[in-house]
Amino acid sequence: MKRALISVSDKAGIVEFAKKLVELGVEIISTGGTAKKLIENGVKVIGISEVTGFPECLDGRVKTLHPNIHAGLLAMRSNEEHMKQLEELNVTPIDLVVVNLYPFKQTILKDGVTREEAIENIDIGGPTMLRSAAKNFQDVAVVVDPEDYDTVLKEVEEKGEVSYETKFYLCSKVFEHTSHYDTLIANYMRKQRNANDYPETISMTFEKVQDMRYGENPHQKAAFYREVGNTKGCLTNAKQLHGKALSFNNINDTNGALELLKEFDEPTVVACKHANPCGVGSADNICDAYLKAYKTDPVSIYGGIIVANREIDKDTAEEINKIFVEIVVAPSYSEEAIEELTKKKNIRVLTLENILQKQPDTAYDLKKVSGGLLIQTIDNELLPNDLEVLTKAKPSKEQMEDLKFAWKVVKFAKSNGIAIGKDKMSLGVGPGQVNRIWACKQAIRHAAEHLGADSLKGASLASDAYFPFPDCVEEAAKAGITCIIQPGGSIRDKLSIEACDKYGIAMVFTGMRHFRH
Ligand code: 5GP
Repeated sequence: MKRALISVSDKAGIVEFAKKLVELGVEIISTGGTAKKLIENGVKVIGISEVTGFPECLDGRVKTLHPNIHAGLLAMRSNEEHMKQLEELNVTPIDLVVVNLYPFKQTILKDGVTREEAIENIDIGGPTMLRSAAKNFQDVAVVVDPEDYDTVLKEVEEKGEVSYETKFYLCSKVFEHTSHYDTLIANYMRKQRNANDYPETISMTFEKVQDMRYGENPHQKAAFYREVGNTKGCLTNAKQLHGKALSFNNINDTNGALELLKEFDEPTVVACKHANPCGVGSADNICDAYLKAYKTDPVSIYGGIIVANREIDKDTAEEINKIFVEIVVAPSYSEEAIEELTKKKNIRVLTLENILQKQPDTAYDLKKVSGGLLIQTIDNELLPNDLEVLTKAKPSKEQMEDLKFAWKVVKFAKSNGIAIGKDKMSLGVGPGQVNRIWACKQAIRHAAEHLGADSLKGASLASDAYFPFPDCVEEAAKAGITCIIQPGGSIRDKLSIEACDKYGIAMVFTGMRHFRH
């Protein structure tokens, strides 16, 4: 290794790295700010303009964009013709490129950043050098991450050069890095224009939070990545106070629970299993809310996930600790509550600020299918303003509250889903069935089993999509349910309305469906 080019925005560790390179006999070329910093620290450098014969200009927009640089990077040392041409052109090969880019990400994450400022932080020469060097990786080592300085130094120290394997690793890292960088730019531009516009090709980019022990099952490999941007209220921003690292399923299930929780303003607890709600309760205080969620289904909550939208106090923590739960997430905990919960080794305790913050309407909902990706806007709606009641019986104010509660629960149950609720408590949930009547029967059985058949008298039932037949109304009537909320829109709606009238049930049509798969 004879010649290195160093041009970095993040100057951490660069002086030490350059000094060692010089000690190892490497000559250093450098650009404006980097050269200044190196010289100030006693490192001998060749200014970029000496190599290009052209001044750095246009406020730094043009520094290294010159054939003297790119020929030096792209010439294949094993190709005699290439080397002959370099000699004729009086270009010296460059063996090491150390570049990190203008901080585009940090810039767009700043509050109130202007489009001009963002654009000024799009690096041009940096990615160009990175690409040239990475394309010619057999002959050029290219370092984009300061974490790799030591690896490179060690190899140069020991062998006078960087090994093929390391150079290939560095090269693949470069393309990962520059595509992430470009994707952040593309996403920024897309959002500036219209986020609900679906372009011809779509690139998305995520940053690793952690490797996971395994995926959905122990034989599957897995990692967790976060979006770049405003992720307030998202699980990626949760802080873990206690317990083992979250597993793949923990994250998916907790996400489901949090999405449902965000529908409630008053003190509410959601218990989830396999991303389906098994118990939901709202009350004047969080302990009563927990007890409601617990009572709904004291069986499924075992090993489940509990999310709460208020601080967990001592009483609630004591109640939670009576059973085994995997995860508790809340905005905060009282000191005594933390003391209580952390008595158990196997519970994971997390805090999440802005727990009620929903994703913006412009966020994408993604579903991976084999060989493709489905993208849609997220289901940020709950109920339209105008609801239709076509039955003779009309819901009372209290019943309307119960219906809304059940409707929120069913929105976040997998389809086909039915949820039953009363007095701000879910009584039964029938999620993920292949036909609606099974979901209905399951929700009723769920309530009858845990709370007794009487609990259903006067309760409210919500269906995530329309009733294709009046059979669900028949089942509901048998159980003593007195009001129903559903989207409507079936060609047999009339039969369901007639059945409701026969049993004195009030039925509300929402005109809005909430499938969830
Ligand atoms: P310095 O602080 O050394 O003046 O600038 C370092 C930064 O400039 C690095 O982030 C590098 O990627 C970037 N850079 C190097 N050459 C060029 C160029 O020709 N044009 C632009 N826009 N950026 C460059």
